[in-house]
Order: sequence, then structure tokens, then C-alpha cells
Amino acid sequence: MIIFEPSQSSTIMTKIKDIIEYLETFAPPAYQEDYDNSGLITGDHNTEIKGIIITLDCIEAVIDEAIRKNCNLIISHHPIVFRGLKKLTGQNYIERTVIQAIKHDIAIYAIHTNLDNISMGVNKKIAGQLGLTNLKVLRPKNDTLNKLTTFIPKENTEDVMSKLHEAGAGVIGNYKNCSFRLEGTGTFLPVENASPTIGNVGQLEKVNEDRVEVIFPAYLKNKILDALFKAHPYEEVAYYLHQLANLDHNVGSGMIGDLAEPMDSRDFLNHIKVRLNTSMIRHTALIKKEIKKVALCGGSGSFLLRDAIGQLADIFISGDFKYHEFFDADNHLIIADVGHFESEQYTKELIYELLSEKFANIALHFTEVNTNPIFYA
Ligand SMILES: [Zn+2]
Ligand SMILES: [Zn+2]
Repeated sequence: MIIFEPSQSSTIMTKIKDIIEYLETFAPPAYQEDYDNSGLITGDHNTEIKGIIITLDCIEAVIDEAIRKNCNLIISHHPIVFRGLKKLTGQNYIERTVIQAIKHDIAIYAIHTNLDNISMGVNKKIAGQLGLTNLKVLRPKNDTLNKLTTFIPKENTEDVMSKLHEAGAGVIGNYKNCSFRLEGTGTFLPVENASPTIGNVGQLEKVNEDRVEVIFPAYLKNKILDALFKAHPYEEVAYYLHQLANLDHNVGSGMIGDLAEPMDSRDFLNHIKVRLNTSMIRHTALIKKEIKKVALCGGSGSFLLRDAIGQLADIFISGDFKYHEFFDADNHLIIADVGHFESEQYTKELIYELLSEKFANIALHFTEVNTNPIFYA
């Protein structure tokens, strides 16, 4: 009779949702662009992981590879499903990929523009590859910050604040537990049916309170309010929420930084070729003799050209520039189109580094499939 057989594996089993939750603490889904489809595309959050394949693109050959390597989760930068699928008959590569994944119980998870839009994400990886310093997000995202103002009886302030900080409030750049406090008097008159923590029904009460202000990422609103209501001693918590016009400089598109020493522009193009492992760069006239300030964006970054010019970059490195967009360099800077795949190829390493720090027990594989659909003759 077996009563209890502790299998070692059951104690260290990791589920898909553990991986997703962890990755999304770095790259919250709220930071993806409106058009995007980051997240779990096929599969079940509660499935235990056998092995993971990390890839830039999830195509049929990557599903075949997952089957061969006994992996049941594919983490892909680009979502295989971008628009709605109305049929699943295998008429095109998207439908075939999804069908194969579902048939073989393979989960596909995409971590796309949310990984592009964080300061330690895709673009930092490229900047690191090129040896840039003084990194800043090129175009910080709007409307990512909220402010909570609340009123706490003095003896409860520390406790409530520690719960709010735990939930993620009060982080500004490299500082945490940031808040502003002002002492004052709160007044209230509990009426019928109230059960006040302090005072009595029908009597005006005056309480020594702290007015506290704290900033937080907008996507944490429900978590922060939940923490406030749980920790605050009052039956009715007084608070205000404000949306801030302030920019969070750790969230947004593209990146800008400096080379430690200026580099001759032709030498710099060669440097890009070596460091981004590419044989070809399409670029505009080398109107700058030397390169010092470099703007970049992994993938399709032409929408950021104005920002790169505005911040006086000598060169803007990205992919997917169209013919007419090259004219927009307009003697302000050099556009260097290194290719979409080439610019984002180190995203696989980024995902690997994040996961290997935390999940040492899981088999992590880089895809061996070259998913770049573009060849150079
Ligand atoms: Zn990207
Ligand atoms: Zn991309």
C-alpha cells in the first residue's frame, strides 16, 4: 500500500504560469502596444514544463524542434498570431503552426512589445552589444504613472506604507519606498449604520492623521488599492487617485546612448556588422565624420526617427526602413538599417538570462532553426 510517495520532481515542478508570472514582473503586459498580442497563445497555464525553446519567431520548424527535444513551451518574441484567426484549416503557416502546437500539447508564449518597451529589455541588449553607455529610453511612454493620496491615522502610517511599498508603490528610478507625508487633522462624523474604528456614531471626531502621497505604475492600480484597503484601519478609506503627466523614463520605445570614445563613421558601421553579426547594412550618406551619440530600436523603428533627430543622435540604427523613409534622414543623421531579425537576435539571450537566474531546474534551449525569412544574395 502506497500512502505517500514524495516524488522529488513534484516538489520542483514548474508550471507555465510560474514562468509567465516571473517574466511579466520584468515586462508587464500592460506595456505592450495596442496592436500587439503578447501572452499565452496556445496551451494551459497549469501545464508542468518539460522543457523550453526560446526563439525570435515561432514557425512550424520550431514546433518540430520542440517535439524532437521533448519541450512543451516555446517562448517567442514575435507572436505567431497577430490578428484574429477565423479558421484553422492549415491554409497558411500561421494556422499550420497553431494546429501543430495544439496537436502536440505545445504551449506558445509571446513576450513582444512589452519586452521592447522596458529599459532593461530588447534595446538595452542591442546597446550593450554595441558598447553604448549613458543609456536612456528614446521615447518614454505616456500615461504609465498614477499617484495615490491617502489619509492614515498616525499610529498606522508605517504599517500601511510598508504594505503599499510591498505592492509596488513608491519606486522612482533607482529609489524605492519614496513617499511624501504631511501631518494634519482628519475629521469625520459617523452616522447611522457606521462602525467606526475610532470614535462613536453621532459624534464629530478629530484624529491626528498623516496625508501621504505615493507614485506607482498605473497597471498596479488594483493591487495597490487592494493593499491600501487591507492595511488601512478605517471602515471608509479616504483617498484620491491621479493620473500623472510625468514620464517614466524606464518605459518606452527605442534607446539612446553614447560611445565611450567617438568612432569614425565608417569604422562604426563595421563595428555594427561585427557586433550584430550581419554582412549587410543599408544606410544613408555618411554625413557625420564621427559617431558619438547613437539612437537605436530593435525591429521596426522608423517611427522613432524624429525622436532620434530631436535628441541629436549621430546615427539611428533599426530595421524595416522603406525607401522614402531614408530621405527623412535629411542631413540630420545617418540611418542604418541592419535588418529586423539582426537587430533583435540577442533577445533570445535576454530571455535566457532572465529565466536561467530563477529556474535552474528547467531545460532551456535556444532554437537551432534560423527563423530569419530574409536571405541576402
Ligand atoms: Zn521587438
Ligand atoms: Zn521584432
